Amino acid sequence: MTSRGTWAAAVLTLFPEMFPGPLGLSLAGKAMERGRWSLKTVDIRSFATDAHRTVDDTPFGGGPGMVLKPDVVDAALRAETTPGPRIYLSPRGRVVDQRRIRELVEGPGAVLLCGRFEGLDQRVIEEHALEELSLGDFVLSGGEPAAIAILDACVRLLPGTVGAPETLIEESFEAGLLEYPHYTRPQVWRGRAVPEVLLSGNHAKIKAWRQAAAEAATKGRRPDLWDRYQARTAARQNSNGTERATGPLAGAIEEEV
Ligand code: SAH
Repeated sequence: MTSRGTWAAAVLTLFPEMFPGPLGLSLAGKAMERGRWSLKTVDIRSFATDAHRTVDDTPFGGGPGMVLKPDVVDAALRAETTPGPRIYLSPRGRVVDQRRIRELVEGPGAVLLCGRFEGLDQRVIEEHALEELSLGDFVLSGGEPAAIAILDACVRLLPGTVGAPETLIEESFEAGLLEYPHYTRPQVWRGRAVPEVLLSGNHAKIKAWRQAAAEAATKGRRPDLWDRYQARTAARQNSNGTERATGPLAGAIEEEV
């Protein structure tokens, strides 16, 4: 997390009118108003050079759909001065996770390039050594929803965006586990009572219950996360047993998924 000035995001898109969209509301919108982050939206089409402002063409080798032209996207990227990694949103990329989001926020900003149609000419990805990030194993019709999701995840980590910092520490993935379940009033709802321990006022017991619930959820729902969590816990116990950081979850944050 940075305590420096404004975290700068630039989005290169064929649909600038999709922004700020949800990023202009709620936490992200307020953080933007307060100058914690800025969002620049660049219309890729403004870099087209022909009379029709063409941005796409048919794929070499045949097949359906259109491909974003490398020369147009290259011009847009070359003109962009926003600092930070240059990211192409792509289903062929590495699936983004909380660790990558945290790294992005620690930097000065990010440039996010949104594809459309069948995607981007491979050569421009290589020319600019773009980092390819995916939102998950499904196909969107454009990179814009992925850019919005990633920026939302980044902005809420900026200092002062989310009210209590503990909220961020205890969340899913931060300790390598899914989060424990939440309950609020009424105490009994449709015959379902909240777990008794949460009403006990015994903070040690509550903490232990939440830890057990987080472990059970992770084990049952995300065996991949669970395996990594167990491996890390074992490694920590083997390495002389001393925690480097202080505080209950401080060590976990350094080693999040
Ligand atoms: N033909 C491509 C899909 C193109 S979808 C393929 O099969 O790999 C059009 C654009 O949507 C892509 O260029 C990309 O920018 C965006 N996109 C689609 N799915 C995405 C995902 N899971 N994560 C991030 N961006 C995605």
